[in-house]
Amino acid sequence: MKYPEASNYINGAYVPANTNRTLDVISPLDGTILSRVPLSGPADLDDAVSKAQQAFLKWSKVPVKERVQVFYRYKMLLEKNMTALSELIREENGKTFDEAKAEIEKSIELTEFACSMPQMVCGETLEVSRGVECRTEVCPVGVVASIVPFNFPSMVPHWTIPNALVLGNTMILKPSEVVPLSALKIAGLLEEAGLPPGVFNIVNGDRSLVEAICDHPGIDAVSFVGSTNVARIVYARASANFKRVLALGGAKNHLIVLPDANPQMTAANVAASMSGCAGQRCMAASVMIAVGDCEHIIGLVCAEAKKIIPGVNLGSVISAAAKEKIEKYITGAEKQGARILVDGRNVVVDGKENGFYVGPTIIDQVTPGMPVATEEIFGPVLAIIRVKNTDEALAVENANPYGNAAAVFTQSGGMAKYIADNASAGMVGVNIGVPVPREPFSFGGWNDSKFGVGDLTGKSSIHFWTKLKKGHNQMEP
Ligand code: NAD
Repeated sequence: MKYPEASNYINGAYVPANTNRTLDVISPLDGTILSRVPLSGPADLDDAVSKAQQAFLKWSKVPVKERVQVFYRYKMLLEKNMTALSELIREENGKTFDEAKAEIEKSIELTEFACSMPQMVCGETLEVSRGVECRTEVCPVGVVASIVPFNFPSMVPHWTIPNALVLGNTMILKPSEVVPLSALKIAGLLEEAGLPPGVFNIVNGDRSLVEAICDHPGIDAVSFVGSTNVARIVYARASANFKRVLALGGAKNHLIVLPDANPQMTAANVAASMSGCAGQRCMAASVMIAVGDCEHIIGLVCAEAKKIIPGVNLGSVISAAAKEKIEKYITGAEKQGARILVDGRNVVVDGKENGFYVGPTIIDQVTPGMPVATEEIFGPVLAIIRVKNTDEALAVENANPYGNAAAVFTQSGGMAKYIADNASAGMVGVNIGVPVPREPFSFGGWNDSKFGVGDLTGKSSIHFWTKLKKGHNQMEP
């Protein structure tokens, strides 16, 4: 094992879990065992919740302008530790170093936004009649839980940590059990920045811990990011226990390409969108809808995809099971009559024979009913569906149950607006393949990609992490 056994982090201390259940942490880059993570039980969660409740009594009373000071220092620590953190993410997640570094840069941007909270959350006051004022005040919700997926070990936790904590909440983070190491490093940096004990806690575990979080009476709000099936379970279970819940799910993102699109720019965008982070992004292009004669663009997309080399500028997928599942989808489409233009199956990287690599794969002649057209594959695979006109393209996009992202590539302003207006997705790009909103704009999809009201980042997250107190004061007799 390269690293010591992972622990939990409760009340400012790295503590072992009360459990015999553990899981090996395997680097998908080469199959080596990095560490072992405890799969905590209810007693560990009880301990973390009780410490978070105690910490809440003080932290919630600290003025917001004072709370952000911790995060100004934390942002500088992220900058200082960027290389070490990026390397750890690369090892445990399998993405490239540059992709891991981009995650830390995004984590910094998210922290910077949280530092602007004093400017964002001023209440309102109005003298509603002589000597009588009404006022509002933004108050934290309490102890909140953040349950996160494997694909962004730093960025997704930073969707929730800085905003929730700056707004006065205390938190239990439940990292993905397959990438638990980066979160523990983040805890150390928050501590170094001066965050008081108990404000941020980590409990490692799997499904049973998530269920315990949904049921725990001491947890007031639950945010979840992961697959749609689990998002549904978490939303239903935590809501049934009267918690505030926001659950972000999976995706199947469509890029609609018109024949007048700038060919080279479009091809570069499409190839980067479907292959970045080995296709394991909830914003990745999964289906390209080619409207009319897009032959010249499809040729360029394939040429771009062939420049993406596993083990060089393409990382691994997360596990052997993921690799097998992705390759099954490709083979299934081939058997159903689709044409494999670029084939990423059976890739072996020299010197990393035990790593889990899938090369970029482009599948043409896909029809809307095929599993590669409808299901989330979560690998570097692009299905091309050919249609005659934009309304047919929109019908295919609208029929998919997810609604995270969509994009249109064209040089016509009118067509771009028509498609962007009518795509059924929460985040829409025009000539941008990965339309992730930047702060202060909020991140969140529609349809089966999100359950709950509002978004998880940016301005919209303020409503999720706070509740309003309304005051009505007579100041004079
Ligand atoms: P996942 O749903 O398997 O796991 C997410 C979290 O849920 C993990 O912490 C895991 O321990 C827990 N979990 C897993 N199975 C569970 C179960 N049956 N009951 C309760 N908890 C359970 O997701 P993943 O494989 O880690 O991540 C990939 C998925 O996340 C993809 O579907 C991707 O689209 C999605 N994702 C979505 C967004 C978004 O913003 N919408 C962002 C990132 C990832």
